[in-house]
Amino acid sequence: MTLQERDQKFIWHPLTQHKIHQEALPIVKAKGALLYGEDGKTYIDGIASWYTAMYGHCNAFVLEKAQEQMQQLDQIVFSGFTHEPAIRLSEELIGLLPTNQEKIFFSDNGSTANEIGIKMALQYHFNKGKKKNTIIAFENGFHGDTFGAMSASGLSVYNGPFEDFFIDVQRIPTPTADSIEEVIEKLLTIINNHDVAGFIYEPLVQGANSMHMYDARYLNQILAVCNDHGVITIADEVMTGFGKTGKMFASEHAEIQPDIISMSKALTAGFVPMAITSCTKEIYDAFLDDSVGKAFFHAHTYSANPIACAVSLAGISLLKSDEIQTSIKRIIASHQQFNDSIKNHPKVKSTRQTGIIYAMDLDIEMDRYGKKRYEIFDFFMQKGIFLRPLGNTIYILAPYVVTNEQLNTIYEAIKSLLDTI
Ligand SMILES: *Cc1c(COP(=O)(O)O)cnc(C)c1O
Repeated sequence: MTLQERDQKFIWHPLTQHKIHQEALPIVKAKGALLYGEDGKTYIDGIASWYTAMYGHCNAFVLEKAQEQMQQLDQIVFSGFTHEPAIRLSEELIGLLPTNQEKIFFSDNGSTANEIGIKMALQYHFNKGKKKNTIIAFENGFHGDTFGAMSASGLSVYNGPFEDFFIDVQRIPTPTADSIEEVIEKLLTIINNHDVAGFIYEPLVQGANSMHMYDARYLNQILAVCNDHGVITIADEVMTGFGKTGKMFASEHAEIQPDIISMSKALTAGFVPMAITSCTKEIYDAFLDDSVGKAFFHAHTYSANPIACAVSLAGISLLKSDEIQTSIKRIIASHQQFNDSIKNHPKVKSTRQTGIIYAMDLDIEMDRYGKKRYEIFDFFMQKGIFLRPLGNTIYILAPYVVTNEQLNTIYEAIKSLLDTI
C-alpha cells in the first residue's frame, strides 16, 4: 500500500471534507523553504507551513539546540518545578515584547493561548469582585478552534454546530479611514450596554480572514477607548508575531500596547508545538491573594516543555541575527517590486502588504471552499509551489530564508495564473 492509501485507512484530517477530498500528499522531508514529496517532486513552502517554519525547515542551528536539550532534560511538570530553558526564554521574550509585558504563561497551541487570554480577562474582573461576561471581537477574526477562541472567531463555516454554547461575544468591524468613527461609536455602545471584560483582536493582519489588513492608527484609537473603560485588551499575535509585519510584534506598530499577548506558530520555529500568553503586571497582580481561589487554575501537561523552550530560544536568536533581519528587508522590497509589476493587471482586484505578508484578491467570483480554489491550489502545486488560496485571495508568507530565485518562481507562477485564469 502507498502512504496515501495507508493514510486514508485510519486518519481523519483537519479542515477536510473527506467525502470530496480524499488525497493528502505525503511529504517525506523538508529543508529551508523546500518540501520534498514522496513523488520525488519539491515544493516551495510559500506559507511557511502555516507561518511556523520561518527560519527554514529543519534549520541546523535549531536542530542542534533541540538535540542538546533532549539529552539533558526532556519533560518536567511545570507546576512546582522550573528549568533553565523556560527561565531563559521568559527573560528573552520580556526583552522582545512591548515594554508593558511582564509575565509569561506557557501552553501548547495558539487556540489555547487565546483561550488563556480570554480566561485571564474574565478572571481579572472576577477577582476584583466584578462580574463581566462579554468579550468584544472583530467581525471575521480568527482566534482558534477551542470554545472560547471559537466564540471570539467570526468565520461561521467552522462554528455552526456549536453556536449555542458560545461565550457572549459582541462584534465590531475592522476599521477603515471612512468607518473609524462608526466603529468607535459601535464599540462605545457595546461597552455601555454590556459588562465587557475584554477585547480580542489580531493586530494589523487578520490571517484566516484572507489576510485582511487594517491601519495601526485606527487600532490605536480602539485600544484607547478600551483602556478608558477598563476593557482588557488581548492581542492575538499567533500569526503576526516574530517579525512578520516588519517589527518583532505587530502590536509595536500602534502606540498603545495590549494588556495581554498570545503567541505560538513561529514561536517554536516549526519544530514542536508551544504557545505563550504574556500579560502586564497589573493583570498578574489581580491573581495574587492569600486565598488559593484567586489563582489561575489552568494547566496543560506539556506547559513549558524544555525541548520546546530550547527550540524557541534558538529561533529567537536567529530572528535577531543580521542575516534574518536583512532577509526580512529583502523580502519586503521584493514583494513591493512584484506588486508594482502586477497591481494593474486586469485580473487583480486589489493588493496589500504588511511586512513580509503579501496578498492579492483576484477579480473573479469564487466561493471560499469552492472548486475554483482547489484548481488554483493545484495550479501552483503542479509548478512546485505550495500556496494556500483563501477564497479569491492569494497570499505569500514564505520563510525568511526563502531565496530570491524561489520568490521569483512564486511570482512567475502567480503571473502565469493571472494570464490564464
Ligand atoms: C493559527 C492561529 C490560531 C490558532 O492556533 P493553533 O495553534 O492552530 O490552535 C489563532 N489565532 C491566529 C491569528 C492564528 O493564525
